[in-house]
Amino acid sequence: MDYEAFFQTELDVLREDGRYRVFAELERKAGAFPHATCFNHEGVDKVTVWCSNDYLGMGQHPAVLSAMHETLDRCGAGAGGTRNISGTTHAHVELERELADLHGKESALLFTSGYVSNWAALSTLAARIPGCIVLSDALNHASMIEGIRHSRAECHRFAHNDPEDLDRRLSAMDPDRPKLVVFESVYSMDGDIAPIEEILDVCERHGAMSYIDEVHGVGLYGPRGGGVAEARGLMDRITVIEGTLGKAFGVMGGYIAGSAAVCDFVRSFASGFIFTTALPPALAAGAAASIRHLKTSQVERERHQERVAYVRRRLDAIGIPTIENPSHIIPVMVGDAKKCKRISDWLMEHHGIYVQPINYPTVPVGTERLRLTPSPVHSDDDIDRLVRGLSEIWSMCELARREMAA
Ligand code: PMP
Repeated sequence: MDYEAFFQTELDVLREDGRYRVFAELERKAGAFPHATCFNHEGVDKVTVWCSNDYLGMGQHPAVLSAMHETLDRCGAGAGGTRNISGTTHAHVELERELADLHGKESALLFTSGYVSNWAALSTLAARIPGCIVLSDALNHASMIEGIRHSRAECHRFAHNDPEDLDRRLSAMDPDRPKLVVFESVYSMDGDIAPIEEILDVCERHGAMSYIDEVHGVGLYGPRGGGVAEARGLMDRITVIEGTLGKAFGVMGGYIAGSAAVCDFVRSFASGFIFTTALPPALAAGAAASIRHLKTSQVERERHQERVAYVRRRLDAIGIPTIENPSHIIPVMVGDAKKCKRISDWLMEHHGIYVQPINYPTVPVGTERLRLTPSPVHSDDDIDRLVRGLSEIWSMCELARREMAA
């Protein structure tokens, strides 16, 4: 086989479909986010980032930076090993205490990313609980799907955000088999939010464990940033809460929080925990500082919500179609991969606006979109430019507008 030719042909198919990914090579500037320097777009130097998951700008918060600097100077660069073999440092243990407290749970367990935490925890729980049946929301993230698949446990998809469908499926199953219901709070591409309470009611009725991915909720919702489940007073009814340190908390890493026994079980059996080097202590300290700050400060969350609502109002006023949802994610619907890429390129070249196109397989074909994530540090001026740019390119692409708001 001509391997090189094979790789090129496969890549050409992606290019042909408008799905070939080109990364913007950015340098984020501490203190200047959402503004960044771009290195690989001719004629474009300064850009405004509109698609970052550093939702609150905590990646540049002075408390986070100083905790990281201080720990780096005191402890050095890396953790020096897996958690089991010399990689467990004081910073990791403190961060796990902070996370357990955030979610009102006995315990928490760190991983190197949110992806790894889902993969490791789900593959371990579903594989090691004898006869476990997994019920997985139809729109769950790839990391959850991969973890469940790896477990080889029996898995059923229930209709997205549909507790009645979940109930029907559970009712048809052997009541004596253990069950694990897996879902998210905020779904990252449509920005819709799960009916958590109703799902938990169903879980409890059928004696099923519940596993929620709050990756797009933690830091952003709830009086202490514990996520949507905290905002709705439901954390104590959930078996496992999974989250990331890489989005609203602005650093990197993932975790689960739950009872001492469930966390200890995953710690003891999950290969994705056991066989990989621990996060650098400076990252753990930075994440802990971010969590601590957001437990008491409402300023970032309030400003974030205000900015999101303002961007929505401005887009509605010029008829740019978005998915309405109760979250901070604004999906601008284009519905065509090539147009999506064209819009993204044009915004970058003409307005220094960086918003990555979202295509299949991240979203279904025909629902290609731009996923806008306003932050507390996007200014009125940034928003004016975004709205102007989108309006211009919308007309140039002859895309339909919604009826204008009065
Ligand atoms: N779960 C969901 C729902 C996600 O969207 C993501 C990342 N996009 C992850 C988990 C993985 O988190 P991380 O980026 O920390 O690996």
